[in-house]
Amino acid sequence: MRVSRLLLVTLRDDPADAEIPSHKLLLRAGYIRRLGPGIYAYLPLLWRVLQKISAIVRQEMDSTGALETLLPQLQPAELWQRSGRWAGYTAGEGIMFHLEDRQGRELGLGPTHEEVITALAADLLRSYRQLPVNLYQIQTKFRDEIRPRFGLMRGREFIMKDAYSFHADEGSLRQTYAAMDNAYRRIFRRCGLKAVAVEADSGAIGGSASQEFMVTADAGEDLILSSADGCYAANQERAVSLPPAPVELPAGLRAGGAGELLATPGQTTIEQLVIAHGLEASQLVKVLLLLARFEDGQHQPLLISLRGDQQLNEVKLANAVSAKLAGEHGALLAIDPLSGELVAELNRSEGLTIDLAALPLGYLGPDLKDEMLSAACPSQLVDLRESRAGSAGAAALPQPPRPHLSTSFLRLTDPTAADLPAFVCGANQVDQHRLGASWAGLGLRPEVVDLRAAQPGDRCLHDPSQTLAAARGIEVGHIFQLGRKYSDAMEARFTNEKGVEESLWMGCYGIGVSRLAQAAVEQNHDANGIRWPLAIAPFEVIVVSASAQDPRQVSLAEAIYERLCNAGVDALLDDRDERAGVKFKDADLIGIPWRVVVGRGAAEGQVELVCRDDGQRRDLPVEAALEALLEVIPAARSGLVSGMGA
Ligand code: ATP
Ligand code: MG
Repeated sequence: MRVSRLLLVTLRDDPADAEIPSHKLLLRAGYIRRLGPGIYAYLPLLWRVLQKISAIVRQEMDSTGALETLLPQLQPAELWQRSGRWAGYTAGEGIMFHLEDRQGRELGLGPTHEEVITALAADLLRSYRQLPVNLYQIQTKFRDEIRPRFGLMRGREFIMKDAYSFHADEGSLRQTYAAMDNAYRRIFRRCGLKAVAVEADSGAIGGSASQEFMVTADAGEDLILSSADGCYAANQERAVSLPPAPVELPAGLRAGGAGELLATPGQTTIEQLVIAHGLEASQLVKVLLLLARFEDGQHQPLLISLRGDQQLNEVKLANAVSAKLAGEHGALLAIDPLSGELVAELNRSEGLTIDLAALPLGYLGPDLKDEMLSAACPSQLVDLRESRAGSAGAAALPQPPRPHLSTSFLRLTDPTAADLPAFVCGANQVDQHRLGASWAGLGLRPEVVDLRAAQPGDRCLHDPSQTLAAARGIEVGHIFQLGRKYSDAMEARFTNEKGVEESLWMGCYGIGVSRLAQAAVEQNHDANGIRWPLAIAPFEVIVVSASAQDPRQVSLAEAIYERLCNAGVDALLDDRDERAGVKFKDADLIGIPWRVVVGRGAAEGQVELVCRDDGQRRDLPVEAALEALLEVIPAARSGLVSGMGA
């Protein structure tokens, strides 16, 4: 390819809307252009990178025996209603783009394909003899992300490789999961990425075991906690650890019972209480008031107790609340702090009359009475939709679920708080706390659930002499053992060896192909531009003649370019009539692993060979330079050998 034909448009300055190095570089070097929030055009250079990554992914998937397929992106709502995920994915914080067709039927744009593939499995798979089977595709996914950002890292339209396996039993699922784990490690290594595997939360996908692959980088959105002995690594969303031991309240302050009242005027935060009364944060129980919203309109107030020095892990909380109530109320749509704004919005949109001022916020104790809810919500719930029903045309609209506010709290307590024999907590009156309270003294038997966020510095469960260290990570892949969640819901069954029908076992496996391309840049760049790992570079060599005016240089550069192309090398010839400095800068910026410079030495048949990765330069006779390239490039292409350009 000739640079003059490449539509190469590079930018001298960093684009204003790009925050992290890889995003800036992909824009500046002419790899991508933004069309809207989270929507990018993949320009020809990036498309070559994506094709190379896809080829590696294909090879590794094929070698596990997986079959490539291509599934519809337009997905009937009915499939998602059967799995129970339609509301969760389309209402509240749901990320599925959805639409109505001309017949008024609802459709979603595929954010993921569990439903589609399980419906197919129900249709195609009948007998254990067809199992196991693993299908994969490489395709554009759509997600209406709440915060699209960082270019291809969190797009609203992006390329994913997703695979789904079906099995007769759990053992077979585990085998394929292990094979995919292995294939993923090879894929990331071949793409030149340093990725680590960490335990992960299974999120809205569901299922049991799951593991994420993280590219460590400061710009990563995820926090990884790991032990130095290499035995434990987890996404903070999922991580567990031993909490630091609390500082016990001095015996004299343990009043017993419900504790003594402590005047705490204006002291609504842990920090204020600690300073004003010489307390330790671990001597306090803090109480968070949140509101969970469900698919059927249920609004469930939550009263969450944590030790004062601990932080809430919102993912663990959502999992616990979902596990308790989703069976009765459908998908959990959102959990939000009960703030003034939320209350105003609820009052407005759902016809409620909650008065937040009735609640002693900042002074809440775990024994806050359920009656407080009625006090906060003095009148009966008004169903706006009923009062609207009389107006013309309204009856034809599908009715959203009727909002309903539960009149009792769901109270959950983290073990760190539940284990305190005596503590300080809010007294449920403004400007008052309780000193030396106990659970029994407050008349409570806490429901204990792990809700705390593990922190860097915490001791590890597997070996308390190890502590957790934090690193930031970009999630490039995620593999799940789904079990029978989808096959049960969508009746995807097979006949086993004994002739008995049972649900299929299922796994699913994703790689963010477009995110991976950008993660590679995040891990491989310098002040001058991108340093692509050779296996995924858009071109392997760029041939540059220092002077476009010198016919000898130009013809030697052409000859070298041709030799490389004929030898099967992905070569680029910078044939532009530009100054040498401009061409070198662009070559560094777009990050081609090898550069052959045809300069003044052309008359003697000498060229300069430059390695983008380590900056090494060598003056060599043309033949020696070609020989060196033809040796190092094919070896580095597999991505499995280390060394220059690999
Ligand atoms: P995240 O936690 O980053 O939102 P996820 O857990 O929702 O990702 P999965 O459903 O596991 O993602 O999707 C599989 C892979 O697709 C992810 O590992 C990631 O590499 C990629 N991916 C997910 N969302 C996006 C996105 N918005 N833009 C680009 N790639 C994405
Ligand atoms: Mg994930």
